[in-house]
Amino acid sequence: MKIFVTVKRVPDPETVIKIASDGSNIVPDNVKWVINPFDEIAIEEALRVKEKVTGTEVVLVSIGLKAAQEQLRTGLAMGADRAILVLSEEALEPLAVARVVHKLAETEKPDLIIMGKQAIDDDSNCVGQMVAELLQWPQATFASKLELAADQKSAKVTREVDGGLETLAIPLPAVVTADLRLNEPRYASLPGIMKARKKEMKEIPVADLGIDVTPRLKILKLETPPKRTGGRKVRSVQELVQVLHSEAKVI
Ligand SMILES: Cc1cc2nc3c(=O)[nH]c(=O)nc-3n(C[C@H](O)[C@H](O)[C@H](O)COP(=O)(O)OP(=O)(O)OC[C@H]3O[C@@H](n4cnc5c(N)ncnc54)[C@H](O)[C@@H]3O)c2cc1C
Repeated sequence: MKIFVTVKRVPDPETVIKIASDGSNIVPDNVKWVINPFDEIAIEEALRVKEKVTGTEVVLVSIGLKAAQEQLRTGLAMGADRAILVLSEEALEPLAVARVVHKLAETEKPDLIIMGKQAIDDDSNCVGQMVAELLQWPQATFASKLELAADQKSAKVTREVDGGLETLAIPLPAVVTADLRLNEPRYASLPGIMKARKKEMKEIPVADLGIDVTPRLKILKLETPPKRTGGRKVRSVQELVQVLHSEAKVI
């Protein structure tokens, strides 16, 4: 079984983000870059399948700057087998990313694509859905549990939906996007880091794929959220209710 996992290089959620003076983008200096946390969960899930199903190959795919090599190496150190980096100097928007994954999937023919449900930098939450549409494959988004059938021809996916859980059966090949509670990603071990240095990382300029990545969206403005004010202690539940009602006006 071959599993594709997408890996986006994003700012560490703990990083304090500064926005450029023209509001067009973030200031990339001094930002710590990491694997998108939901993609880390997707890698972990693929590795768990690999541990159960003999002969499984886990292929990581990243699209963006050459610097994303670092995040791919981390994924390889966790245990993935090889990586493909599609190089683009420009940040590609969701449809373009989906087209790249679609194109690679047409050539590589994975049985399963596991992606994060969203990237924490742009929160678009749509690449997985678009990949499934382009490939005309079934999809199960927001997965909190993935169970492959013994014959590896289908999967049962539990999804977190508003007010409960939904369980779907999907035939493979399919696209599954990972929610937070799918698993707890492992850390890369030292032997894993050593092995990762020798694993294949193929680089392909996006122009070589012959797909249309022309932007259709324009970010008009980025803004930081208002500064948080300090908290205060209340003496009783009654006082809390009264403060929430009359001051915060949330109830
Ligand atoms: C990948 C990802 C997925 C997420 N998914 C969800 C989600 O499904 N649902 C959701 O609601 N939010 C989600 N979040 C948002 C995240 O949980 C929020 O950032 C968090 O709830 C922020 O809480 P806070 O503002 O109190 O943190 P901060 O006040 O910024 O807290 C910072 C740190 O202080 C520590 N801390 C805070 N309060 C306490 C305490 N009482 N005792 C001890 N230590 C404390 C914690 O270690 C915390 O990490 C997600 C974030 C990421 C990055």
